[in-house]
Amino acid sequence: MKSRTKVVVIGGGIAGCSTLYHLTQEGWSDVVLVERNELTSGTTWHSAAQVTNFGMNQTMVGLKSHSIQLYKDLAEDPDYPINYHHGDGGIRLANTEAQMQGYRHFASMARGMDVQFEVIDAEECARRHPLISTENLIGGLWDPMDGDIDPAQLCQALARRARKAGAEVYRNTPVVGLSQYSDDTWTVRTEHGDIDCDIVVNACGYRVNEVGAMMGVHHPVASMEHQYFLTEEIPAIRDAGHRMPLLRCPISDYYCRQEKNGLLLGFYEQDCKTWGMDGIDPNFVNALCPDDLDRVTDVLEGAFARMPALMEVGVHTVVNGPITYTIDGAPLVGPIPGKRNAFCIIGLRAGLGEGGGHGWLLAQQIVHGEACYDTWCLDPRRFTGHANVELTSLKAIEDYQNEFRFHFPHEHRPAGRPAKTTPLTPVLAAEGAEFTVVNGWERVEYIKPTPDFSPSLSFDFDETFDLVAAEVANVQNGVGLAEVNGFNRIEITGADRHTFLDRMFCGMVTRRDGRVGLGYLLNHHGMVKAEATVANLPASDRGPHRLWYGSAAASEFHDMDWLTQHLRADEDVHLRSLTNDQTILVLAGPNARNVLSACARGDWSAEAFPWLSVRECFVGIAPATVMGVSFSGELAYEIHVPNASLYAAYLALRQAGEVLGLKLFGSRAVESMRMEKSFLHWKADLITEFDPFETGLDRFVKLEKGDFIGRDAVLKRQAVGARKKLVVLQVHATQQPAHPGASLMQSERVVGTITSGDWGHRTGLNLAHGFVQPGLADIGTEMELDCCGQGVRVTVIPRSPYDPGFERIRA
Ligand SMILES: Cc1cc2nc3c(=O)[nH]c(=O)nc-3n(C[C@H](O)[C@H](O)[C@H](O)COP(=O)(O)OP(=O)(O)OC[C@H]3O[C@@H](n4cnc5c(N)ncnc54)[C@H](O)[C@@H]3O)c2cc1C
Repeated sequence: MKSRTKVVVIGGGIAGCSTLYHLTQEGWSDVVLVERNELTSGTTWHSAAQVTNFGMNQTMVGLKSHSIQLYKDLAEDPDYPINYHHGDGGIRLANTEAQMQGYRHFASMARGMDVQFEVIDAEECARRHPLISTENLIGGLWDPMDGDIDPAQLCQALARRARKAGAEVYRNTPVVGLSQYSDDTWTVRTEHGDIDCDIVVNACGYRVNEVGAMMGVHHPVASMEHQYFLTEEIPAIRDAGHRMPLLRCPISDYYCRQEKNGLLLGFYEQDCKTWGMDGIDPNFVNALCPDDLDRVTDVLEGAFARMPALMEVGVHTVVNGPITYTIDGAPLVGPIPGKRNAFCIIGLRAGLGEGGGHGWLLAQQIVHGEACYDTWCLDPRRFTGHANVELTSLKAIEDYQNEFRFHFPHEHRPAGRPAKTTPLTPVLAAEGAEFTVVNGWERVEYIKPTPDFSPSLSFDFDETFDLVAAEVANVQNGVGLAEVNGFNRIEITGADRHTFLDRMFCGMVTRRDGRVGLGYLLNHHGMVKAEATVANLPASDRGPHRLWYGSAAASEFHDMDWLTQHLRADEDVHLRSLTNDQTILVLAGPNARNVLSACARGDWSAEAFPWLSVRECFVGIAPATVMGVSFSGELAYEIHVPNASLYAAYLALRQAGEVLGLKLFGSRAVESMRMEKSFLHWKADLITEFDPFETGLDRFVKLEKGDFIGRDAVLKRQAVGARKKLVVLQVHATQQPAHPGASLMQSERVVGTITSGDWGHRTGLNLAHGFVQPGLADIGTEMELDCCGQGVRVTVIPRSPYDPGFERIRA
């Protein structure tokens, strides 16, 4: 066994084997994998091992396509062929029009990744899968690439290729401890000796938190018991002359694929069970949980009704094993929050299908710092402090119960709520607020007209349309108040704070006391990494000279990680998170100044406190920091208040606003208004797949200012020219918005992808943002949007269709 290597991957299931193999493909051969028992002895060996191309977003579709290509290649390797039933095809069933609409959207989204799905009606489903009845069926989504693979052979094939490329695999070598040193290197302690290394990867499946604990980390991953059974031979399958396609059923929560001449039927029962919550027997190796088919009778009935042939045959084997889930159903693949040189590839609930792709994207992140796709949907830092063991298990249960029921736009499921609240949450609830969840925070979405108001789940504009219009109108014509909780806020102090940010941002960071600026951070490849406002606070009785770095709520761990990674030992810079201490009250609309003046001492005129100013004051008796910034396009103030004083500030503003008609507004109204200003959203429009020029951020880049992270890369990229351009689009349809991921077409070719869309209630325009081929970015260019299967005309329009001169903000 080596005593020193570059990377130690811990765990020899599909996650670990794929990571090891892909590290060698990215050019690192001095890498090892340590496995406590034999390869695949965790969950992998007993997987149903279906491999589909279906994913909820383009990153997931792209990584699954990689798996499929890789598995095909492995299967065809004459030296070590493996069993891969590739291309049996698979159907996701639907019994509602809303599900069919969703499938049409996913087909549009996949098209942009060069993956073809087909939406078919009930008769066509039955024609392709002769065992199913069309009772209570509208149709389905056909995935031509669906299939299944032998999991043990797959892992052996990956390990074999990795070994050939120089990697080493140590079986029966349990990791028992991890130590990290001041230079960020590690020692991995095993039962057979220590291995020093630069980087560790946790790929430990359901034992993820045993190894997490060795580095003082709890990962938000919980295991569920999951069962399938195998039937005896079914004559209709034996005599069919072709393999049966796979089935996935969101109506009755089962999946089904052919196994020999019978079927393999797996269940996602409502009466489900977490596993291993109180610790895992160290001898649970190559092991299964006891059979428990009584638990799945609800699901079985649905499956029998759909495939009557099932009732004619016996069950010969039951498999019940642990399967891991996270808070949102997607795995955690990337850097471990708060740690250096530590990565994970965990929480895989469809690891056989996805594992090839996840290992590929992780290896790219380890070797190059970033992957070819934006991996935020997999990033372990997307969950923050609320992601504890109890919340994780509740969300795991909910996700398991809804395995094939995709999330609709604006759908927020109830488990684990409320996780993060402010003193205002019950107050706003009493005012009729409906809440959405942002990084665990309960944030007001809109104010309900009646307590039982419940809009339908749909890809169309829903019943909130007029409510949102009224909230927007009130902001436009009068004044509105919104709570924006969880906004990421990092206080930066120290003599070198400005030079530090100069290095981090690609543009100029204002140094003037009392001023606020907006800027962008790039990664080392010159791609857009983060967006933040920076406010310069002068020394006062509340603290020394300091900067407040503010960014999206979800970026709390991500941005802190990125900033701390780039601190230099010789720099006088200190970072402190205020995210959980402060909440923002946004006051917006032409009467905002009057309301603020009525409850906060001082001159708030445009001359004394112009747009992009910051000042400390009291709102009523609440200490507050007010910034003149606006995401709505109206005159607006962000009022930052310590949570202990939030209710006091709220009462003062409500009282001052009463005579001016102040009303509450929510995030749906904000979304509509920000689209009309062409303001961009982090991780929707601002992603690591594009540089700032492609994203239209030219005026925020100052190449002449000297060195900053990403400058050299941006210069090189500029020489090559843009691959895509972000444009603002008018969608010539009124029934539904353009949904993120939808494809833009010209002459049947995909020429772009939507990143966000919503109705602009002040302009009366259906608006969208999207990346398109550079030749199509000119104003007036027309394209066709594949909008849930309908071709809809779209036109490129100038940015900021509402108040392009920014006069209302500056008023
Ligand atoms: C019944 C069932 C059916 C499924 N069907 C499908 C399907 O059809 N399609 C699909 O894509 N997915 C399916 N899955 C899910 C899939 O099997 C898993 O996502 C995948 O196997 C997880 O792989 P892994 O490598 O993350 O974990 P594991 O396979 O559990 O591997 C983790 C490895 O880490 C090792 N390890 C743990 N601790 C240590 C330590 N301290 N030191 C060294 N090594 C350690 C373990 O021994 C183990 O080998 C199914 C799961 C179940 C339970």
